[in-house]
Amino acid sequence: MSDMIVHSRLCSNFPDLLFGMSTRKGGVSPEPLGMNLSFNVGDDPRNVEENRARFFGAMAIPQSRLAFPKQIHSGTVRTVREPGMYADCDALVTATPGIFLAVSIADCVPVFLFEPVIRSVAAVHSGWRGSKQRILAEAEQTMHSEYGANSADMLAFIGPCAGGCCYEVGEEVASQFNDEFVIRDQGKKPHLDLKAFNRALLIASGLKEENIEVSPDCTICNTLYHSYRRDGARSGRMYGVIGFAEEAAGVPGIGTQ
Ligand SMILES: [Zn+2]
Repeated sequence: MSDMIVHSRLCSNFPDLLFGMSTRKGGVSPEPLGMNLSFNVGDDPRNVEENRARFFGAMAIPQSRLAFPKQIHSGTVRTVREPGMYADCDALVTATPGIFLAVSIADCVPVFLFEPVIRSVAAVHSGWRGSKQRILAEAEQTMHSEYGANSADMLAFIGPCAGGCCYEVGEEVASQFNDEFVIRDQGKKPHLDLKAFNRALLIASGLKEENIEVSPDCTICNTLYHSYRRDGARSGRMYGVIGFAEEAAGVPGIGTQ
């Protein structure tokens, strides 16, 4: 099995749902960039283009159908029906088949939601600032209010990100979170467990525990992933992408959207 794409166990039960997250492996950029998908980290654009062609090609997702949030560490969610770059937000929601939502990742928490009954998806970038603003709960609420998604039917994948094992924060950040999400060891700076925090937000929003999948992987201590904390300015970026495929031509229902 290739280590180029991280899959989700929950998503794999739905054949027309496309989901995957890239890693540091399978690309052409010089190390430590490897499979870097960002044009904004000083990588050669030709390498980034080749890397994107490889990752999105392996996902069978046309790059012309991608929608991206600008990712400004906000709590803002936007609903989209067209591909493109969406400024001033950190999460996108759609119910349009053939639109694929993509978030860029290097330590911040990526969360992907999908509701298979009404076929709506969300891609959420939730660093500590976004987490503090409860952007994930906002995304769930947007799927509900815009499309009638039901939280009891909703599934979630919390992807690889800075784990509680390594994610050291200052007291000024730790103090903004409930004690149950802060790990304190004698003589060490506090560590923040943002996976647990975001999982708790989903449960409070009405998702069932068995419908929430949490990656055990930490981007900082697992070199399969890019990590800004670990590699600093030399760090590349990964992408996670989710969306429902359009129905095949000739199948009833096409063109009725
Ligand atoms: Zn770690």
